[in-house]
Amino acid sequence: MQLADYGITQVEDLLFHLPLRYQDRTRVTPIAGLQDGSEVSVEGEVRLADIVFGRRRSLVARIQDGTGTLTLRFFHFSAAQKNSLQPGTRLRCFGQVRRGANGFEIFHPEYRALEAGEGSGTARSTGEDTLTPVYPTTTGIGQAQWRKLCSQALAFLQRAQPRDLLPANSGQTFTLVEALQYLHAPPPDAPLEALLAGSHPAQLRLALEELVAHHLSLLRLRARQQSAPAPALRIKAGQALQQTLLRSLPFSPTGAQQRVMQEIAADLARPIPMLRLVQGDVGSGKTLVAAHAALQAIASGYQVALMAPTEILAEQHRLNFEGWFGPLGITVEWLSGRVKGKAREAATARLARGEAALAVGTHALFQESVAFQNLGLVMVDEQHKFGVHQRLALSQKAGVNGRPHQLVLTATPIPRTLSMVAYADLDFSVIDELPPGREPVTTVLVDSQRREQVVDRVANACSDGRQAYWVCTLIEESDSLQAQAAEATAEKLREALPNLHVGLVHGRMKPAEKAAVMAAFKAGDVALLVATTVIEVGVDVPNASLMIIENPERLGLAQLHQLRGRVGRGGGASHCVLLYQSPLSRSSQQRLVAMRESNDGFYIAEKDLELRGPGEVLGTRQTGLLAFRIAELPTHNHLLDAVQSIAHTLQQGDEAVIEALIQRWTANREKFAEV
Ligand code: ADP
Ligand code: MG
Repeated sequence: MQLADYGITQVEDLLFHLPLRYQDRTRVTPIAGLQDGSEVSVEGEVRLADIVFGRRRSLVARIQDGTGTLTLRFFHFSAAQKNSLQPGTRLRCFGQVRRGANGFEIFHPEYRALEAGEGSGTARSTGEDTLTPVYPTTTGIGQAQWRKLCSQALAFLQRAQPRDLLPANSGQTFTLVEALQYLHAPPPDAPLEALLAGSHPAQLRLALEELVAHHLSLLRLRARQQSAPAPALRIKAGQALQQTLLRSLPFSPTGAQQRVMQEIAADLARPIPMLRLVQGDVGSGKTLVAAHAALQAIASGYQVALMAPTEILAEQHRLNFEGWFGPLGITVEWLSGRVKGKAREAATARLARGEAALAVGTHALFQESVAFQNLGLVMVDEQHKFGVHQRLALSQKAGVNGRPHQLVLTATPIPRTLSMVAYADLDFSVIDELPPGREPVTTVLVDSQRREQVVDRVANACSDGRQAYWVCTLIEESDSLQAQAAEATAEKLREALPNLHVGLVHGRMKPAEKAAVMAAFKAGDVALLVATTVIEVGVDVPNASLMIIENPERLGLAQLHQLRGRVGRGGGASHCVLLYQSPLSRSSQQRLVAMRESNDGFYIAEKDLELRGPGEVLGTRQTGLLAFRIAELPTHNHLLDAVQSIAHTLQQGDEAVIEALIQRWTANREKFAEV
């Protein structure tokens, strides 16, 4: 790795390569005062140094400082190194203390021999006058080199100061230069705990600036998207088809659905691309809202693409839309990774000629080989599984009359705090009402040692005519391992429940097989459906009122909430059993308890954010969208109101300041994301 690989091409970039954490080498800690896990400087006299042939050959040295003895252990060493550790030599070493079999040890400490008269014995000072920064790095550039580079940059800072780009009245105690100075070289008495927690005023100053920069970059992305025209789709055009569809349904839309349908309709009628995110908890009826929007475009003579993150969800949409749109005379085209060869050519040809008004599919839809004749609206379901870049890729498939409108649907409620930095490029609509008759799901936690009782419970529920899901999880993403685990579980459950019809669905099955099993479950012919997490999204069987999730501790909260949303759809009491493997880690326990406590997607999303951080919650880690250098959520949530108002102020001012901010903080964010 070279500096340029870190996005560092000028001195100023170095200044914004900020330490991850700090070491305190300013003081020498007496051996008697060592604590397990702490990083410390220690001075002492070598008493013995020997090669030990244990499980791994190692060089072991013992040093003593008058208060106690400490072991230094090296697994990689040279003969010269051993010879240099002669008894009587005085050393200063630095490293992380761990408790060994015979007292404290440091593995591979950094160390050097002290000159005669140098060092302090058990006195405190080491002569280092600042805390030592530890920089983010991968290979190629070591800590020593980073420290040298950054301290040179600091020296340079005295002559050429980077511009303070935030408005003067931003309420910060540190100026930009003071903050940079402080964070690269904190004084010995700096509050390490505050620095570790990210709550030091110097960090807040920079975090604020970084969040402002990200917010502005999303707003700019939005402005760019909207700089091209989009087809103005008349509201009136869609009304006849929309009414026919709604009349064909056995229910009427909720108030929330109606409101969101209207918000979208108004957007679509404007000649600029809509960029709207619809949030609605699992089961709130987002699909109908999407269908309503699609009809406005189709009636105006435009094509619509609906993209889902998994094959099974895309298929569910296809079936749904064929059922809804078929009677309206609208052709639905199907495109997934599994549609290959001639079938694929035929499908893409039909889309290119405009013969199908609606395309439903997976990522396959935004591959380059797919062209539309006249794409007017792109709808993406379960947005957080796709990165911003994928979403944009589909919107680049412009129709003849400019960019398509974009509608994003998500069941993972995005906490306000996150939406500001991750989705500021989108408008929001919320379906904050569930269709009538939905009952909250009662969730219980059961230790897997009591698995047999759970099997009995399934037997009871199913003999009462109800249906159940049994969800198998695996840490591995691999489809084939997941499939094996699900097969084994289904086999065991068939043995234990010989009177029940047990079905199995997993990602390795052929689409037709999957569809057949799902249809049998929907028809009530299968009582118990064993599944991998492929059923996470979209599957809808109202009579299923019991869900067992095996090893729920392996899943994130959002995923658990999605899964659980498959039950509680039929009216009547529903249950979810989280069949966990003990012992549970603290954070797993917190997640499972949150599930038991609440059915509210917003509460769960906030908890998830708190427990796992934004990268995991949004699944956008790879896209680098949230690869902040210093800002951290939710630690810096309290800055977000200021972020919005500062961004607003800046937008009234000089465009060059905005450009400079975005450059400074986000220009190389994708590279940083990999670091
Ligand atoms: P999600 O928001 O999770 O995608 P869906 O769109 O899959 O939810 O809807 C879940 C189920 O609720 C579907 O069977 C759908 O037909 C049904 N549904 C949607 N809107 C209503 C409504 N207003 N009243 C009753 N059922 C509805
Ligand atoms: Mg859905």
